[in-house]
Amino acid sequence: MSETERFRSRSYDFILIDKMACPSFLKNLQIKKFEKGRIYTYIGEVVVSVNPYRTMNIYGKDTIEQYKGRELYERPPHLFAIADAAYKAMKRRSKDTCIVISGESGAGKTEASKYIMQYIAAVTNPSQRAEVERVKNILLKSNCVLEAFGNAKTNRNDNSSRFGKYMDINFDFKGDPIGGHISNYLLEKSRVIVQQPGERSFHSFYQLLLGGSEKILRSLHLQKDPKAYNYISVGGQLKSSINDGADFKAVADAMKVIGFRPEEVQTAYKILATILHLGNLKFMMDGDTTLIENNKVVSVIADLLSTRSELVEKALLYRTVATGRDVIDKQHTEQEASYGRNAFAKAIYERLFCWIVDRINDIIKVKNYDAKVHGKNTVIGVLDIYGFEIFENNSFEQFCINYCNEKLQQLFIQLVLKQEQEEYQREGIPWKHIDYFNNQIIVDLVEQQHKGIIAILDDACMNVGRVTDEMFLEALNTKLGKHAHFSSRKLCATDKSLEFDRDFRIRHYAGDVIYSVVGFIDKNKDTLFQDFKRLMYNSSNPVLKNMWPEGKLGISEVTKRPLTAATLFKNSMIALVENLASKEPYYVRCVKPNDMKSPLLFDEKRCKHQVEYLGLLENVRVRRAGFAYRQTYDRFLQRYKMISEFTWPNHDLSSNQEAVKRLMESCGFEHDVGYGRTKIFIRTPRTLFTLEDLRTQM
Ligand code: ATP
Ligand code: MG
Repeated sequence: MSETERFRSRSYDFILIDKMACPSFLKNLQIKKFEKGRIYTYIGEVVVSVNPYRTMNIYGKDTIEQYKGRELYERPPHLFAIADAAYKAMKRRSKDTCIVISGESGAGKTEASKYIMQYIAAVTNPSQRAEVERVKNILLKSNCVLEAFGNAKTNRNDNSSRFGKYMDINFDFKGDPIGGHISNYLLEKSRVIVQQPGERSFHSFYQLLLGGSEKILRSLHLQKDPKAYNYISVGGQLKSSINDGADFKAVADAMKVIGFRPEEVQTAYKILATILHLGNLKFMMDGDTTLIENNKVVSVIADLLSTRSELVEKALLYRTVATGRDVIDKQHTEQEASYGRNAFAKAIYERLFCWIVDRINDIIKVKNYDAKVHGKNTVIGVLDIYGFEIFENNSFEQFCINYCNEKLQQLFIQLVLKQEQEEYQREGIPWKHIDYFNNQIIVDLVEQQHKGIIAILDDACMNVGRVTDEMFLEALNTKLGKHAHFSSRKLCATDKSLEFDRDFRIRHYAGDVIYSVVGFIDKNKDTLFQDFKRLMYNSSNPVLKNMWPEGKLGISEVTKRPLTAATLFKNSMIALVENLASKEPYYVRCVKPNDMKSPLLFDEKRCKHQVEYLGLLENVRVRRAGFAYRQTYDRFLQRYKMISEFTWPNHDLSSNQEAVKRLMESCGFEHDVGYGRTKIFIRTPRTLFTLEDLRTQM
């Protein structure tokens, strides 16, 4: 490829920065990108990626080499460039950085996060230190384990992450990984007991049944056929493009490499089997008494949980309550027993998942690192979290997920849009303010103390006596009736889109979402009868026992109400955003080209919506009005001083700023630049490419 061709092909990837409006941006994504397989684009330093839905030959060793140590604009847009930029900032300037990956389900977030980790693993540890290799290996292998337990086939994505994940990778002063930490957010545990038509439960169940040896299955009292188990076959979708049998082995190997002990892996399987058996329990009424029809299943569960059948049966059928000084066993109705059983199944799965994350964290935490001796230990964080969701039926889970997206959008506004404009101001660059929608008002609507939706929900849950979802909706109507981003049918009876009296609507930054209040109270309370916690704590299997320390408390000792699910989630989101805000951010915005998983179809309407709500247009506008590139004068000189006789090898001008001015004038670029107090600003990437080319010709 000739120099000019190379330049043209490169410049196309950036042209959108200056000549952009929504239709042309979309056309650019479609024709130049998706159809030609150039799936990455930059807006400033934000990478936009379009899921190609086909295997691309752009992640190999050769490509890694091309990006290693290069500046962002030197090579065509790529995830590796952003990974390298984050890595360089971390290594050269000792900055903690983070890469925030967003986009809707199936847009390619998890794949992107894995490529980023692969890149970091490939460019670090040139001296092959054994301890660093071990850490890298564990970090990479952890993906496979987390996906087995936290991902599932949905109608949108065959390998959909049903939890949010943030991973910190810690580096030593040499820039090599020495440890890490994973935080997980809101696993969609309702999937353990029920799935939508066409969907599956978490991969782990099918992997165990289809990949586990006969011996393993026998020891767990399981048969191979997933159809035999109610909990995992309600979706009716038992096969997928995934090879469960092979994955079982890969996950087992990964767990071993990470450092899970054999009895720990065994216990994980026992929990999966317990859940499968729990789903097959049948309750019945005999007069006033609730009974279990198939008692054999109870003894199987007791065996798996290393406890006695009577205790399992009692936990399933009775609830121990303290009334004054007395402690009595209150019998469940059939409905209560079934509710309790489902809550138990969900809780032990969620606990297993969190325990797996904790164990991995324990194994990869930074050890023996003394900052005084070794210098600062720096971090790159990678966030792969659920995108905005609008389904036919939106419930508590979508409410939490969409709130999370509001928080992240707010952070994006703060960090990218606001900061960008503030930088121009700080540097004294002439600048016309660009308006964008600030979604803080919606964040407040959800999270404000005493007044927000979560506070109102918690209030409703605190009430003694029977509180219904409808009462919660009433409270919302009373308290938020006048809010510009909230409405319900009661408040606007003429609004045809709100069909039911049980719905409310939030006007999110990404669009309107109608939520059904059904199940909000229950999911927020997230009640698990204490009896189950005690059952687990009293197991003679030490791994299980350790997972349930709160089972230790006696009946009268349990007085404090646990925090509700929404409040726990809110707290974790606030902590996450604080953490991200303390780091230098890099953004990857993933776009899903169509809903058919097709490598050929670019659905314009769908893409337009995503481009709008990902805030890409505001981003483009701020960028268009501004400058594609900025650099401090001394760094700029370091890189380009060989281009001009005035600056090579050293300049004798009054300041670096003067020298840069002279350099740019001598190249004829004076119309494309702004000179700030400490930095040069270059408007179009074309200028930068030419500088790069001049530099390599020297
Ligand atoms: P979710 O929110 O449901 O977890 P996601 O954004 O994490 O979705 P991924 O699981 O990363 O989506 O991607 C969905 C599928 O799209 C992948 O299984 C893969 O088939 C395809 N895909 C994504 N990115 C790429 C890529 N860069 N190259 C090839 N195929 C890809
Ligand atoms: Mg994912």
